[in-house]
Amino acid sequence: MENKVKLLGYEINTLDFESAVDYAKKISGQVVTINPEMMSNSDMLDIVNNSELVIPDGIGVQIGLRILGHNIKRIPGIQFAYRMLEETAKDGKTVALIGAQPKILENAVTNLKMQINNIRIVYFEDGYFQDEAPVLRELKLKQPRLVLCALGSPKQEYFIQQAKKLLPDSLFIGVGGSFDVWAGTVERAPEIWQKYGLEWLYRTIKEPKRIKRIFPALPIFALRVLKERFIPKGV
Ligand code: UDP
Repeated sequence: MENKVKLLGYEINTLDFESAVDYAKKISGQVVTINPEMMSNSDMLDIVNNSELVIPDGIGVQIGLRILGHNIKRIPGIQFAYRMLEETAKDGKTVALIGAQPKILENAVTNLKMQINNIRIVYFEDGYFQDEAPVLRELKLKQPRLVLCALGSPKQEYFIQQAKKLLPDSLFIGVGGSFDVWAGTVERAPEIWQKYGLEWLYRTIKEPKRIKRIFPALPIFALRVLKERFIPKGV
């Protein structure tokens, strides 16, 4: 699709929330909710650029794009994935949830069934399997239209790469820690923090061990973006 901009070589779609939902309903394949931490892993470049939809999840990506002159609003991955669950239910289609710890996954499934009318969860599997073959087999058997994968990054992106080859009609979204939120185990940041794009800071304060993932990824990301903006290629 044409609506794309490049940030550090990563092609990111510029659709707003509603257009991204409409688009995702029409396609199959891989949705990546991209953030600066992902961009510090060089394996990710090919995966992202071979994905069917790449949405700017974090405030870091929004700011990075702004520095390069693109005014694009971020789309929080968790909100996008939840909306896709609702849309899929509305269309009478099926979903699968792969990832998180067993008890958390179970609670997330229970809560989603209570919250979303007519949701059809045909398969769920926690994210601590040793062998992905049986999981892939089960997915192929059940053919869910929407598959949410909460294995953390990059594990979920690698898993989706395998799975999408076997299920050409399904849509896969890597959703990170979303099941933990839906299970009620982890809270999303209060709305005011979300509004100012500071959800990452709230989560880091609540869970200081996350700091290891943000540093050095965030400062390096910032420097690379500034370099891309101010230093001509080849210098
Ligand atoms: N997770 C998993 N299998 C693994 C590693 C992680 O299912 O081998 C799950 C973990 O339980 C959590 C989710 O992946 O529910 C996302 O973890 P994290 O918070 O690290 O990811 P982020 O949201 O930052 O991408």
